[in-house]
Amino acid sequence: MKSLQELVRPNIWELEPYSSARDEYKGVDATVFLDANENPYNSPVNRYPDPLQWEVKEMLAPVKGVRPEQIFLGNGSDEAIDLIYRCFCVPGVDNVVAMSPTYGMYKVCADINDVEYRPVQVDQNFQISVEKMLAATDEKTKAIFLCSPNNPTGNRLNNKDVYTLIQQFQGIIVLDEAYIDFSSEPSFLAVLDKCPNLVVLQTFSKAWGCAGMRLGLAMADPKIIEIFNKVKYPYNVNLLTQEKAKEIITARFDVDRWIRMILEERGRLMASFATLPITKIVYPTDANFFLARMTDAPAIYNYLVGKGIIVRNRSKITLCDNCLRITIGTKAENTALLAALRNYPSK
Ligand SMILES: *Cc1c(COP(=O)(O)O)cnc(C)c1O
Repeated sequence: MKSLQELVRPNIWELEPYSSARDEYKGVDATVFLDANENPYNSPVNRYPDPLQWEVKEMLAPVKGVRPEQIFLGNGSDEAIDLIYRCFCVPGVDNVVAMSPTYGMYKVCADINDVEYRPVQVDQNFQISVEKMLAATDEKTKAIFLCSPNNPTGNRLNNKDVYTLIQQFQGIIVLDEAYIDFSSEPSFLAVLDKCPNLVVLQTFSKAWGCAGMRLGLAMADPKIIEIFNKVKYPYNVNLLTQEKAKEIITARFDVDRWIRMILEERGRLMASFATLPITKIVYPTDANFFLARMTDAPAIYNYLVGKGIIVRNRSKITLCDNCLRITIGTKAENTALLAALRNYPSK
C-alpha cells in the first residue's frame, strides 16, 4: 500500500477541521451548557448531538468485532461512498476502478465529484477477474470498489479474489457489505486489522430494518476514519437516529429473527420462481433479493405494476438483459407476487 499521505488529496491532508462547541468541551461533569447557542427548552432535541457518536460506536463495536476508533458513522453508507471520493480523489485528475455491474451510487458519486470511473465487467458467473481489475488501474487510481454480496446480481465474490486485490493493489479497496447479514460466509471485518488499505461498508438499511433512519458504517484503519471525520459535516448523524440506533442494537435479536424469516422465504420464493414458465434462470444469491432472467422482463414488470406489485427491472444493466431483481418480502407479499406471475398471460 502507498502511504496514506500519497493517497489522500493534499488539501484534505492539510485540512484544519471545524471545531464545534461539542468538540471543544468533552467533559461529562458539567450541568450548565451555555456554549453552543442552543435553546434551553425542548429537550432532548434542543441539544446538538455527539459529533462522533461515541455511545453508538461503543455499542456497535463488539457486535461487529472491531474497535470504536475503526468505525465511521454516516447518513447512510451513501455518505461514506461520497466521502471516499472527497477524501482521496483529486477532481479531474484521479480515477477509481469498479466491478460492473454493481451498485449505481459509486458511479453517481464519481460523476458528482468529477472523478473518472472505470468499470470492469465481471464474468458470466458475476465474478471479478483480479488481473482485469488490476490492469484497469494506473498511477492515478486511488480506490477499487467491490460489492459482495453484489447488487443487483446477489452473488458473493470469491474470498480469494478479494483478498488478492487487497494485497496487490497499492490504493484503497472499498468492500461494500450492505447484504453481508444474509450471506452464508463471514465478513471481511475479520481481517480488517491486517489490511490497512481496506474500507468495509455496512448499513442499517437492509438486515437491520432501518432504511428510513439513514445510518451507514465505514470500518477501516483508525487513520482513515480520522480523515473521514475531519471532512464530514460536524453533526452528520442526528440525535434521533443515534437514539434509535442504540435501541435497535439492544434489540438485535429481532434482527436475527428477521434474517431467519427472510432467508426461509428466500428459499421458498426462489424455488417457486424457478418453476414459472416465464422464468429462464434464477441466479443464486447471498442477499435478501435475487436476480431472475425472464422471457420478457419489461413486459412482466409492467404487468406487475398493473397489479400494484413493484419489482426492479434491471434489463438495461450490463449482463442483466431481461432480468428482474426481486426483494424478499413477507410471506403474504411473496405469495401475492407468485400468484400474479402464475396468472401472467402466456402467448
Ligand atoms: C442498499 C445499499 C446500500 C445502502 O445504502 P444506505 O445509504 O446505507 O441506505 C449500500 N450499498 C449497496 C450495494 C446497497 O445495495
